[in-house]
Amino acid sequence: MKKTIALLTSTLLTLGTTAQIKNPSAGADLIVYHAKITTLTAAQPQATALAVSGGRIYAVGNDAEILALKDGHTRLIDADGRRLIPGLEDSHMHPLNERNFTQKVKWDGVPTLKRALEMLTEQAARTPEGQWVKVTGAWSPYQFKENREPTIEELNKAVPNRPLWIQYAYNRLWLNKPAMKFFGIGTPKFKVEPGTVLHKDSKGNYSGVIDANTFVFVALDAMLPTATPEEEVSSMEYLIRDLNRFGLTTVIENSSVVPYPQGHLPIETLIKANKMNIRFPFVDLGFTYDPNKSWVDTEIERVTKISPISPGQNLNPNMEHGHEYEGTGEVLNPEVHDHENFDKPAIIIPREKMYKYAEEYTRKLIQKRIPFRVHMTYNENLTPFMDAFEEVIKTTPLDGMRWAIEHAETISDENIARIKKLGGGIALDNKMALHGEGFAKTYGIEKALYTPRFRALMNSGIPLSLTTDAFRVSPANPWTGISWAVTGRSVSGKVILAEDNRLTREEALKLYTTGAAWFENQESDKGRIAPGNLADFALLSEDYFSVPDDRIQYLQSVLTIVGGRVVYGAGKYSELSPKLGDVLPSWSPIKYFGGYHFEK
Ligand SMILES: [Zn+2]
Repeated sequence: MKKTIALLTSTLLTLGTTAQIKNPSAGADLIVYHAKITTLTAAQPQATALAVSGGRIYAVGNDAEILALKDGHTRLIDADGRRLIPGLEDSHMHPLNERNFTQKVKWDGVPTLKRALEMLTEQAARTPEGQWVKVTGAWSPYQFKENREPTIEELNKAVPNRPLWIQYAYNRLWLNKPAMKFFGIGTPKFKVEPGTVLHKDSKGNYSGVIDANTFVFVALDAMLPTATPEEEVSSMEYLIRDLNRFGLTTVIENSSVVPYPQGHLPIETLIKANKMNIRFPFVDLGFTYDPNKSWVDTEIERVTKISPISPGQNLNPNMEHGHEYEGTGEVLNPEVHDHENFDKPAIIIPREKMYKYAEEYTRKLIQKRIPFRVHMTYNENLTPFMDAFEEVIKTTPLDGMRWAIEHAETISDENIARIKKLGGGIALDNKMALHGEGFAKTYGIEKALYTPRFRALMNSGIPLSLTTDAFRVSPANPWTGISWAVTGRSVSGKVILAEDNRLTREEALKLYTTGAAWFENQESDKGRIAPGNLADFALLSEDYFSVPDDRIQYLQSVLTIVGGRVVYGAGKYSELSPKLGDVLPSWSPIKYFGGYHFEK
């Protein structure tokens, strides 16, 4: 009996000790105070302090009540009266296509073409033989004071001795003389794919200017020198640093050319090294070169047989929703992809073709319960898609499964109502902020002013987000789109959205927070500063809610927190910022120019 009691006592003591270890002090891990907090909750829209424990927010209130929660282990951060917002989420971008991010010159945010050209010359001087000088999209001629594209003469002059690749969205490509030689432009070596236009100079020779579409640009890009595995990891590390700098705490990888699982190796490496500084839910593309296999069948086979993974499954053991599969998209079939190029009339897919594919693929995906997102820029293509989809769900109900349309720039009232009825979401994007002036030349300014139909879409109650679709058609900076949606002005400063088609600052912020969380089914965990939410937030360089309109585009984060952990700090908070490895390769333009160009 005595023995039993002794055993029982020691067991209880052990349990007691374990319980104490598992249940540390009641105090907060982190308290941020002296802030202007926008919570995006109805009951308590404003606060000045918040407390974090175990990666989640557990108390929000005024400084006195929250500071009372501190104990010996609490880290305190004085926000200096700055605006604090929920961490931003971009629900549609393509980071994994930037596996050679550190090899690229970034024109993102560069204010003059003059400076943009100088950057090329500077970079060419340190680019080793065999490597390229590259600007792979993420800029717009309208961002430059000169308000124009570069000429091929300027580019040949800027970089005569290294091959040069300058890509404008998926609209146009400029190749200098060494680059033309590499591809064999004008020789049988260079196959002219359908939809490709080779410009000629005044003497009738190919100039090096090429108009084409997404697939042609991606195929040509794949022929350039690739990055080493170490450079790929470095690329992701520095790309994510740029995202954190904007205040982003989640991005949805909306499919990459190298699909899951191979395409995700750099992310896996960062996770293993505990260096993953952003939540990274992903959509996977069923891409295959096999002409006898459809992309949807390929995706189904991949996730159900070859590399099994279920929607909602998280591959990052250190972070909730850290690396989570969210389904397939945004291209279900390349034959019915409506390439967006606002400099040219819309590509309209034959109705029968769209209907046939939409019917077949949506049915298969609903049966397998794989959520999907479909790229659909033009209303003319959306209509037959919806016709087929409405037929499918009569016999194959969605039963709560989520689906979404991407972009929807020219959507009609009728199709807004149809998407609403079927419970779909729409991920809008900021292309009109960058390329809207091209759109106005093609379709007229009257149409541009209501593209997309922000107000009608907001009124519809459809789950909406605003995205960048980075990194080719747009830089990853969320503030460009927020600025455009609120002020109605494009990157050139020109009015491109009608006054009654703009958003309030709070509405625009919601599209990048609570709105975005819908696209990964995480509205209860993300997008608000509220007890129970993940501790993801950003402290801003200037007050979003009181800066003049023309300052919104220059906002950035000075402190970004993911799951209660500092992932980025600037100025007074720079000491808190995690140190990154050396940028690779050693000649990387990032080393000299940084990432996104911020106004000094
Ligand atoms: Zn798209």
